[in-house]
Amino acid sequence: MLKKACPQCGAESFSADGTGEDWVCPECGSDISDVKAERPE
Ligand SMILES: [Zn+2]
Repeated sequence: MLKKACPQCGAESFSADGTGEDWVCPECGSDISDVKAERPE
């Protein structure tokens, strides 16, 4: 599980798999592929 916080709108989004590449904010549609992914406990 990876988590990213969108720098544009502040929304958090989650991905169950992968590397965090090709990640688009579900709230505002911004490309946040370059945002650092976190691993929530
Ligand atoms: Zn956003």
